[in-house]
Amino acid sequence: MNHPDPQRPASWKSYKLGMCEGCWAGCCTLPLEVSAFDLIRLELITEDEAAASLKKVAKRLMKEGFVRSYHSTQGIFIIEQRHGRDCIFLDKNRQCTVYEKRPEVCRTFPKIGPRPGFCPVGSKENRK
Ligand code: SF4
Repeated sequence: MNHPDPQRPASWKSYKLGMCEGCWAGCCTLPLEVSAFDLIRLELITEDEAAASLKKVAKRLMKEGFVRSYHSTQGIFIIEQRHGRDCIFLDKNRQCTVYEKRPEVCRTFPKIGPRPGFCPVGSKENRK
């Protein structure tokens, strides 16, 4: 199987049902933008913390290594990546460790994303 480059949506493949089976989870290497609601669902923060100050939330989560940056005008947090590539919630078998609690953008991908209906699909082989 060809390996589209996650950084080049033009190289992605058209999504088909079952495509995620055996995939290296290239979608989980894209920058992950989450809301305060997503952070509550992930159980990283409480509703009270979110209501009190999102800047304080961002400061704590950056210190703890969960969040890379916070964009206050949009209320968007960027989740930290391992080795500058993988989502920190991806395990060594390239499975999501927070699947039931995953953020909204993960739930709507690839319907909504950099190239709707297309994925950076690729084999897991040699892609640990
Ligand atoms: S939270 Fe899970 S599904 Fe979403 S990018 Fe991270 S590993 Fe992938």
